[in-house]
Amino acid sequence: MKAIISGAGIAGLATAIALSRAGWAVTVLEKAAGLREGGYMLDFYGPGYEAAEDLGVIAALKSHARGVGQVDFVNGDGRVGSQMSYAQMRDAADGKLFPILRGEIEKELHDALPDHVELHYSSEIAAVDNGATGVGLTLADGRSMEADLLVGADGIHSKTRKLVFGPDRAFVRYLGYHTAAYFLESPEVAKALADDFKMLAIKDRMAGLYEVDAARIMAFFVLREESIERPADPLARLKAGFGDLGWVMPETLAAAPAAEDIYYDVLAQVEMDRWYSNRTVLVGDAAYAVSLLAGQGASLALAGGRALGQVLGGDGDIDAGLAQFDSHLRPLVLDKQKAGRRMANWFVPASPVHGMVRDLALNAMNWPPLSGLMGKFFSFSSKGFSLASR
Ligand SMILES: Cc1cc2nc3c(=O)[nH]c(=O)nc-3n(C[C@H](O)[C@H](O)[C@H](O)COP(=O)(O)OP(=O)(O)OC[C@H]3O[C@@H](n4cnc5c(N)ncnc54)[C@H](O)[C@@H]3O)c2cc1C
Repeated sequence: MKAIISGAGIAGLATAIALSRAGWAVTVLEKAAGLREGGYMLDFYGPGYEAAEDLGVIAALKSHARGVGQVDFVNGDGRVGSQMSYAQMRDAADGKLFPILRGEIEKELHDALPDHVELHYSSEIAAVDNGATGVGLTLADGRSMEADLLVGADGIHSKTRKLVFGPDRAFVRYLGYHTAAYFLESPEVAKALADDFKMLAIKDRMAGLYEVDAARIMAFFVLREESIERPADPLARLKAGFGDLGWVMPETLAAAPAAEDIYYDVLAQVEMDRWYSNRTVLVGDAAYAVSLLAGQGASLALAGGRALGQVLGGDGDIDAGLAQFDSHLRPLVLDKQKAGRRMANWFVPASPVHGMVRDLALNAMNWPPLSGLMGKFFSFSSKGFSLASR
């Protein structure tokens, strides 16, 4: 059996490892010219953790884990309103939680690819003939390819989804926020952070800061926006949105890199009634983006790839495997999406009262008898994600 995977992000690479392990011949097509290193910092926990254990990459991923002391919510002057200990969060996730850069996950999955997986950079699908027993593809450079299965792992703006299932407007649910992230160097900002992850989260906007290593601080931003349209000048938008704030915001904005080194996107979730059609299946953000508010997109991308390997091995009944993938993962993913929408008011309060409620609730969760609530609130659970291999 042959699979072609569109996209060599976390979902695509995890799927390549898992399908290859299940006996498939795998070709991966990636639009970018090479491995996309760096990216933003994320917390890795939830169902992807167990999937990474199963795929044999957890030790490599953990070798990149950073240390975090406290997670603090601060006000516009940098005064701490509430805080959580990262160790306590890790306990709430049964010890399975660590911060890592997105690009480091991608690199380790890339390094774990079996030799016989073909990976073509600067390659993109232009047309798909999605038949009942196989797919015929035309690539942007005119080449054609055939396979038993096409896996669309090409992210929230998935081209595979557009070609096979329909336009973005049918599936992408805009959550009403834009997000941005970049790395900066600034001794003043580093001093204000120490080992902590600090979030300035006030009405309609949030800025998070963390010192990744001696030379780099990661800044990420979320701001409420009516329009789904991305601004022509992201830095100008950030300066307009955060330039009036105190604390270390002036230094953070002044040290921003050039526009091409700023990640900027809208916050959205992907909602589809079905993730497969004939011999095309979607996985990761392409199928079920949960958004950074849910904090588990990378984890679900990895878990989804592993799940495809579990359901598409064995008896070779691809249709039954895809149906099992969809019906099993769907309720679990919907739950994570719901948690993400719930978290919006936490990270980007709609009013000062929402911010005060958050601070009260967080400070209460630090009280040992209530600390169990933390795992529930952040939806740390990965229960039920693993499928029995077919
Ligand atoms: C600021 C921020 C913070 C986040 N924090 C967390 C967190 O704490 N925890 C967590 O688990 N997740 C977090 N996430 C979410 C997580 O990063 C994503 O959900 C995850 O990376 C999705 O992986 P993916 O492989 O499905 O998609 P992507 O990472 O988007 O990868 C898609 C790949 O497909 C390629 N591609 C695109 N179009 C084509 C095409 N036409 N042909 C071929 N290739 C194509 C792209 O170049 C890319 O390599 C965060 C996201 C952001 C933005």
